[in-house]
Amino acid sequence: MSNILVDLNNCNIEPIHIPGQIQSHGFLIAIDQELRIRFYSENIHTYLNLPAIDIMGKPISEIEPIIGKNEPPNFINQLIVFGKTNGFDQTNPFQTDIQGQAFHLIISQSADFFLLEFEPSLSDLNLDIQKMVGRSISEMLADKNLQNLLNNTALQIKSIISYDRVMIYKFAEDGHGEVVAEAKNDDLEPWLGLHYPASDIPQQARELYKVNLTRLIANVHTEPSRILAEEADAERRLDLSPSQLRAVSPIHIQYLKNMGVHSSFSISLIYHKELWGLIACHNYTPRFINYKSRESAKLIGQILSSALEFRQDEENQSIYDKYKAAVSQLSKSMLQSIRIEDALTSQSITLMDVADVSGAVLVYENSTVRLGVTPDDEQLISLISWIGETISEPIYYTQNLSSIHPEAAAYKAIASGMFVCTISKELGEYVIWFKPEQMQTIQWAGNPEKPAEVDVEDGILKISPRKSFETWSETVIGTSKLWTNAEVKSILRLKGEITYAINQKASQIRVLNEKLKQAYEELDTFSFTISHDLKNPLTTIKSYSQLLMRDKNMSAQSLGILGRIVASSDRMDQMIREVLEYSRIGKTSLTKVPIDVREMVDELVRDLRLVYGTFDLEFTLGDTPVLHGDPVMMSQVFSNLLSNAIKYSSQSNPARVSVQGTITESEIVYSITDNGIGIDIRQLPSVFDLFKRMDNVQDIEGTGVGLAIVKRIVEKHQGKVWVDSELGKGSTFYLAFQR
Ligand code: ADP
Repeated sequence: MSNILVDLNNCNIEPIHIPGQIQSHGFLIAIDQELRIRFYSENIHTYLNLPAIDIMGKPISEIEPIIGKNEPPNFINQLIVFGKTNGFDQTNPFQTDIQGQAFHLIISQSADFFLLEFEPSLSDLNLDIQKMVGRSISEMLADKNLQNLLNNTALQIKSIISYDRVMIYKFAEDGHGEVVAEAKNDDLEPWLGLHYPASDIPQQARELYKVNLTRLIANVHTEPSRILAEEADAERRLDLSPSQLRAVSPIHIQYLKNMGVHSSFSISLIYHKELWGLIACHNYTPRFINYKSRESAKLIGQILSSALEFRQDEENQSIYDKYKAAVSQLSKSMLQSIRIEDALTSQSITLMDVADVSGAVLVYENSTVRLGVTPDDEQLISLISWIGETISEPIYYTQNLSSIHPEAAAYKAIASGMFVCTISKELGEYVIWFKPEQMQTIQWAGNPEKPAEVDVEDGILKISPRKSFETWSETVIGTSKLWTNAEVKSILRLKGEITYAINQKASQIRVLNEKLKQAYEELDTFSFTISHDLKNPLTTIKSYSQLLMRDKNMSAQSLGILGRIVASSDRMDQMIREVLEYSRIGKTSLTKVPIDVREMVDELVRDLRLVYGTFDLEFTLGDTPVLHGDPVMMSQVFSNLLSNAIKYSSQSNPARVSVQGTITESEIVYSITDNGIGIDIRQLPSVFDLFKRMDNVQDIEGTGVGLAIVKRIVEKHQGKVWVDSELGKGSTFYLAFQR
């Protein structure tokens, strides 16, 4: 490990769990499952008066009298058997006497080996730590405030283990650390508030902090002791992750030396199984604290961890509840009979309440609603089009918008953080939230851009941690606060609610459609019944009028009136017939058969010539492709169109009416053309409406029902009907049916 080829990331790959050596304030023996000695530390001879023969490969029992003067034979075996079933926590530390000196034996398991680590049981402390711990804990927890809790903990740890400086170090999401609480000797400069680059504690070291909750480096100036193994070079195989004595990485040793630290002790703080931070203790002279003291300090760390967890959870929960209530309220409003955009933006609770934001924008149904502080209209238009082109995820968020969309630098003060929730990408509908820029000035302990310095030694590049710890401040720009998990969850829930509400409204429209259909059917039935019922009294009126007309004494004036009654009855009868026809279409089902249009049209024209008298009519019949449809209804269609063509061109001399059928790729199209009075272009859109008659037909009889019947029948056949007409020149009605 002494010569590492450099790349600045290499402390991330340093295998610190298998350093092949231990710190020399204790010694180590590793035995296998058969209790044979497979490894031991070279410094064993400074602690044990061993026989001349090499103990490597020998059963541990052979040296039991030396490592446990007063212990019964096989005591190591007994400890291991007990520890394997009950956990080594129960046996650690085992008090033993080695050549008149009190030692702690700490046993742990590493792969197939058992590590037996021996440390002096005498601390450099002369306090009864265990007694102090109880009192410390109650003092620590006395204050509910999070910062006070941290400050108290630092103070208590300092008073228990008497290190010169005790810091509570908290890791940010990017891995860098910040000193959030500190207790120190008066003569030391404060490090509170300083930030340390993430590279100061590489990832694999963080993992080990999770396995071993305390870590002591007793003296950075002592030489580590090599681990010897049965086979040469095999010492590296011994995984020291669970070890107490594991040697320190030379890089870390150098780092501490650069800071002037002689001894360091740390306690891990865990939040939901992850490393939240460390209680880091520095001493400017060597310092050894024994296993029991370390365990007591660990207990404080664990209590702080759970207090942190509890407080953080409590805080998170109350924020979460607040967001949840806002989402529920919005969801309720959306399901009420107000528009979705109003529900989200104009009630007492709005989009602004589902996260900690300073502005929000709803882009929905072709309108954009802005809430709070947002980019201006022009900037928004450009941002929304960029979102449309770039973002395909259903939700997307950033705390540094200008880094991905440089144009946003212009409004970074109000919108460095952006959260986009896509309602519909196709329709370009989004909800967008903004967080303002958070100008952060970070006090770095040393330049984080240069976490390590490179030395050249013997022509080999060597990495060494930075020597300069001079405070260096950096201002972070264009960045907002992070989007928290609670916010992401809240927005996701809102997204679900919006989708649900939109679907609900869509089905409400479907329900309305159904109701409308029903109403139409009822109307059909109504008009059918009423028309039917009107027919009888009308016949009676007509018959009695005609009867009266036969009376010889009737005056000429009365006869005239009766004549008009009869004529009106006829008109009314005609109208009733047509309304009946119209409403019957909705009721009858289709029976489609092939129709010989030529025969049908010929017959109709023959009849119509009789009805409309003897005026000059030139009728032409072109191609007549077969139509598939209901023969009675189709005859009604042609009859209405032909009769209109003839009727409304009767004043032209000669009247020219033609029928032409064509077959296109997908349709059969029929056109009925006349050279009659034509239709005013402004009235064309309503020509197929029921009872609608144009202004130019007042002198020509009609009911305004015929074309409505045509349209209804054609649509019932899934066809189309439209008209092309010019006032005074004539009209062409088109019918198109799928082939
Ligand atoms: P009507 O019984 O009045 O003919 P329709 O429903 O058949 O009722 O037609 C509606 C109106 O459309 C007519 O009143 C007329 O104004 C206009 N129209 C229909 N066909 C023609 C046509 N071939 N030429 C001119 N106007 C027409």
